[in-house]
Amino acid sequence: MDYKDLADLIFPEAKEISYYEEKYPRRNLKEGAIVTRFAPSPTGFVHIGGLYQSLIARKLASQTDGVFFLRIEDTDQKREVENGISEIVNSLKDFAIEPDEGMISETEGKGEYGPYKQSQRKEIYQAYAKYLIEQGKAYPCFCTPEDGEAMRAKQEAAKVRPGYYGVWAKCRNNTVEEMVEKIKNGESYIIRFKSPGREDRKIKHKDVIKGNVEFPENDQDIVIIKADGLPTYHFAHAVDDHLMGTTHVIRGDEWLSSVPLHLQLFYELGFKAPKYAHIAPIMKNDNGNKRKLSKRKDSEAAVSYYEEEGIPEEAVKEYLLNIANSTFENWRRANPDKDMSEFELQLNKMSVSGALFDMVKLLDVGKTVISKFTAEKVYDEVYKWAKRHDEELEKLLENKEYSLKVFGIERGNKKPRKDISKWSDVKENIGYMYDELFFNKQEEYPYQVISDQEKINQILTLYIDKYYDEKDDKQTWFNKIKELSGEMGYCKEVKEFKANPGMYEAHVGDVSTVLRVALTRRTNTPDMYEIMQILGKERIAKRFEVAKK
Ligand code: GLU
Repeated sequence: MDYKDLADLIFPEAKEISYYEEKYPRRNLKEGAIVTRFAPSPTGFVHIGGLYQSLIARKLASQTDGVFFLRIEDTDQKREVENGISEIVNSLKDFAIEPDEGMISETEGKGEYGPYKQSQRKEIYQAYAKYLIEQGKAYPCFCTPEDGEAMRAKQEAAKVRPGYYGVWAKCRNNTVEEMVEKIKNGESYIIRFKSPGREDRKIKHKDVIKGNVEFPENDQDIVIIKADGLPTYHFAHAVDDHLMGTTHVIRGDEWLSSVPLHLQLFYELGFKAPKYAHIAPIMKNDNGNKRKLSKRKDSEAAVSYYEEEGIPEEAVKEYLLNIANSTFENWRRANPDKDMSEFELQLNKMSVSGALFDMVKLLDVGKTVISKFTAEKVYDEVYKWAKRHDEELEKLLENKEYSLKVFGIERGNKKPRKDISKWSDVKENIGYMYDELFFNKQEEYPYQVISDQEKINQILTLYIDKYYDEKDDKQTWFNKIKELSGEMGYCKEVKEFKANPGMYEAHVGDVSTVLRVALTRRTNTPDMYEIMQILGKERIAKRFEVAKK
């Protein structure tokens, strides 16, 4: 009896690993091409941190003519939820982060290195587990959960490290005969890796992001195949990233301390290890305390939040690039009109500790991003959002021709309007351009310097009866407001007003404010000339009538 017999007894059907090595040949890519992946569990929740990782992975693969794939890690079937994969696939799609290979729905994948869902790769893992058993590098463990409990209790009492290692690794010392006999007797078992490591020795590792790190060697005989025949994460990732040709494992830094184990697995399996890049999590400032963005506590931790709020995917991605590389901000300043895909992301410039998530900054980025959209794009996006989240707004937008004019105000010029940071703001921001909304609201008119209703009424009447002409160009239009100001006894020039304190009650700017407030109930709007052009004289007159009390 030898290890080979043991391996055959445990996995009689498993193929030789040479079969898989040939089936999945090394990728034929140019020097320096990065092959990387996003490897989430389908838990029904896509965290913004996962999107962040995917964005980084996608970008690096694109920058180097490499490959980015989506692998679903569903070996912990307790955590699985219905449609978990579709949710991940759709989230990536919503953010235009499309994998080159991998799962595209609950059951289908695309690409030559699949299946890309771990539960469909059972026989592959078993082949590699068999290979390890044949060499005496893995073994069946017959310890029951109760044995495990008892071991833990003893370790605690003796104040030693927990785990299955050294003298505690009871089953590693069984002879092949004993193991075979137990299996033949029908005892249940799992497969453990026989770690060659020693805790008193150190390993050095150079992480692409974290730099040089040093850890004790791994000496735990971790489980590689569970009782259900499926692998654990550690083992599965080694087999998959090897066969799928991953050059860079880019993942959350909660895995950094597993590196000694992972390198050991790669080594014992005879694989070349990939590079590791451990990303610091996105943090939040919680009353002065820095903590990870939490799925339970923070709505902005869920990728779905951004869609619901109507924060455009471009803004989210652009903001995440800000977090990823501090050099992005300067690049953006120097290249305001370039597409963010032209920015060269550098993995080794990522911050070692977690960056703070700043919603104010994100919305600010959103304002700039949206300011560069064409009216058509803004319209399409807002309409799409309204269809999902705001029926009233959807109705208003049905008049496309008119809405395009509204969104076109101060857009497409050198200094475009920057008053929209997310689609859920739009109704509030442009509501006054729609009579249905404007007249339904019972809001105060926030008049400023000129607040006497008599005077206001006079201004409004004079303006409509004597001055406003739709055909006027902007200069003429403005000159007429000056004339009106003069006729009312106000100062026609702001400069003159300032030079002669006390001489005038108000100036042309104050008169403009009266017009603006009567028209929109706001003191601040985009260009009033354009607003008037779009509303047209009749609607202006009607609004002024309503404003006169
Ligand atoms: N399934 C692991 C996770 O959800 C993946 C880690 C990795 O990218 O290797 O965190």
